[in-house]
Amino acid sequence: MHIRCSYCRHSFNLSRDYLVQALAEVEKKKQKYHGVECMNCRKIIKVPVSQMRPYAPRPEPADEDEGSE
Ligand SMILES: [Zn+2]
Repeated sequence: MHIRCSYCRHSFNLSRDYLVQALAEVEKKKQKYHGVECMNCRKIIKVPVSQMRPYAPRPEPADEDEGSE
């Protein structure tokens, strides 16, 4: 997932592994945003959970309606 820091405009990628972990955490805390530290200016960037979710597949298949290949 591509993130851009709104403070210094530095852009970087979050790996899927990272997102899966981060999502698990925000869901546990029932938060709507995940704070990512910008690796350039070290400020916290708020990333909405709804934006992260498509990049991180759930560990358990909630709905198996994928159809054909
Ligand atoms: Zn930054």
